Amino acid sequence: MYYPMYDSTFILLIPAILLSLWAQFKVQGNFNKYSKVYSRSGITGAQVAKKLLELNGITDVAVAATQGSLTDHYHPTKKTVFLSETVYGESTISAIAVAAHECGHAIQHNVGYTPLTIRSMLVPVANIGSYASWILLIAGLAFSWDPLVQIGILLFSCVVLFQVVTLPVEFNASSRALQQLSYYGILANDEIQGGKKVLSAAAWTYVAAAVMAILQLLRLIMIFRRD
Ligand SMILES: [Zn+2]
Repeated sequence: MYYPMYDSTFILLIPAILLSLWAQFKVQGNFNKYSKVYSRSGITGAQVAKKLLELNGITDVAVAATQGSLTDHYHPTKKTVFLSETVYGESTISAIAVAAHECGHAIQHNVGYTPLTIRSMLVPVANIGSYASWILLIAGLAFSWDPLVQIGILLFSCVVLFQVVTLPVEFNASSRALQQLSYYGILANDEIQGGKKVLSAAAWTYVAAAVMAILQLLRLIMIFRRD
């Protein structure tokens, strides 16, 4: 039986693991830091979200609270901007930046931003691929049956593509958020800098995930070719 998890090529993943840990640390740190800084406008995350949707002429997207920390997301089929408790009702720089970022996704959806459309199409494939690829790979390597391994690698490539397409979607949502917060005067220039730090830290977690997926793919190809 062959266990790709304990292969020596695992070393390849170490930089991605370190990057991921560093990004997580940075996200928590910046989010916590600017969760203590209140905006001068006194507007809450939920109010910012509603306001930005309205200013962008989006009338069919709801804003709702959700449990947990850093669980904020835009749900395209439910057409809802979900904000975590520390974002929804708080008027901190972190809350406002995150709320505006999620609205950035709602705006992308509204204007038919191409990377978001591609990403949405890849969601089901990536979901299945993320576990089915491993089952096929392990089975393929165990029984030394190449076609199974090749299909596994192909499926995993879809996961990689999904992670890569996520990058422009996330960077674009953040740049839309900051631009709108500044343009509509929701945050002052000095406050925008804090918001920028919160969002760029979050963006690094997506970079780390993409790097991890790419290295993982590289590793799988190496294992396959050597076998
Ligand atoms: Zn996002």
